[in-house]
Amino acid sequence: MTAKTMEELGALCKRRGFIFQSNEIYGGLQGLYDYGPLGIELKNNLKKAWWSAMVYERDDVEGLDASILTSPQVLKQSGHESTFSDPLIDCKDCQSRWRSDEVSQNACPSCHSKNLTDPRPFNLMFKTNIGPVEDGGSFAYLRPETAQQIFINFKNVLDSTPHHLPFGIAQIGKAFRNEITPRNFIFRVREFEQMELEFFVEKGADEDWHKIWTDLRVGWWIDQGINKKNIEIINVSSDELAHYSKATIDIMYKFPHGLEELEGIANRTDFDLGSHTKEQQDLKINAQVLDNKNSNSKLAIQNKDTKEWQVPYVIEPSAGVDRGVLAILNEAFKKETLSNGKERTVLSFKPHLAPIKAAVIPLKRNNEKLVEQAITLKTSLQKLKLGRVVIENSGNIGKSYRRHDEIGTPLCITIDFDTIDDHTATIRDRDTMEQQRLNLDEIPSYFSKYIGKT
Ligand code: ATP
Repeated sequence: MTAKTMEELGALCKRRGFIFQSNEIYGGLQGLYDYGPLGIELKNNLKKAWWSAMVYERDDVEGLDASILTSPQVLKQSGHESTFSDPLIDCKDCQSRWRSDEVSQNACPSCHSKNLTDPRPFNLMFKTNIGPVEDGGSFAYLRPETAQQIFINFKNVLDSTPHHLPFGIAQIGKAFRNEITPRNFIFRVREFEQMELEFFVEKGADEDWHKIWTDLRVGWWIDQGINKKNIEIINVSSDELAHYSKATIDIMYKFPHGLEELEGIANRTDFDLGSHTKEQQDLKINAQVLDNKNSNSKLAIQNKDTKEWQVPYVIEPSAGVDRGVLAILNEAFKKETLSNGKERTVLSFKPHLAPIKAAVIPLKRNNEKLVEQAITLKTSLQKLKLGRVVIENSGNIGKSYRRHDEIGTPLCITIDFDTIDDHTATIRDRDTMEQQRLNLDEIPSYFSKYIGKT
């Protein structure tokens, strides 16, 4: 069973410290959210899992962390300045503003007036000034995707690493879009994070790699705990393809508000490198690119056998971190009725994603011997570096179990008076609620095995 409503999920996230409305004490800023103590752990764990699968577990991908502020020249060549906009319609009566695909039968969705403007393009990129003088010549954009910074670093990475085609560059980082109607909690926001891989391949091998990456990415989401039944793969139709794309596959997920994109996997052809390279006229670029007179870098690779220069094709799996967090929260959220008739809420995250891996609970609050034993165990588990372990010194076991079920802690370990005598403690499993007694010396290896399992 997944979450019933986005409201229910949002309320849990706020109550337990996962996600808060941003700038809330001054009334909030729309389309922006802050990750609280547990949200940051969940988000970091998801990013770590992605980095591990995309970089560490492969020999053909390198990482990058490039700047957010981006030269207008980059986003001109990429086509964002001319195409990265949504058509907008204003209601002249109630002053509300809508994306044209939200307006049906020429009526304002809010007040139903037909007194509307024609659709006008609205650029989604945020601008800011660089340097002390606010003149038009010194502005930069906040990047609307992480991808472009990867393309313009292509030669830097290639020259500093031993790669040949195929190889990839991965990046996780913030992207900014001035969405006209941010909505559905963290699904559509104005400041978000992306996990993007640009995978460079020979022309001709692109379609095979597109399929390989689609399968790998779907498998990865399933490994994070997403139920296969809640995923749909769609081929984006040719009239909806982005200007750079030869083919795009969207991984759609059944969010609480409906089936929507979680990740897109695009075949970007040689558009991006072709657009940013110098000496365009000497290279056989297949995509339609803007002339480039300013780049000082040749973004091409010489074929070792034919000696011919070629501009690689690119396959891009591009996932939203925030949409991933939302999907994982939605999958993990369960309300169960127990045999005693009571209800419990539980977030059954995969252990590697859980914000807190284990809670150590002294049976009696502030009892010196119990607390001391609990701290010793907590310290030994924390030293294993598998994630956060906490002491729960509330003195109320039932309440502690409920709280840790609700925040998705896989294991609770209770230190009681017998522990002092016989050196054993009770371990409770979040999902089965089963309890077992283990010797304190056995607990670190039990914990490692449990948290390490996928
Ligand atoms: P949509 O059609 O939903 O606006 P998109 O096709 O514009 O998404 P891409 O440009 O392909 O999205 O971006 C790649 C990924 O970045 C998306 O699959 C999504 O997970 C994430 N993403 C894009 N826009 C937003 C946003 N406004 N808020 C949160 N995540 C986003």
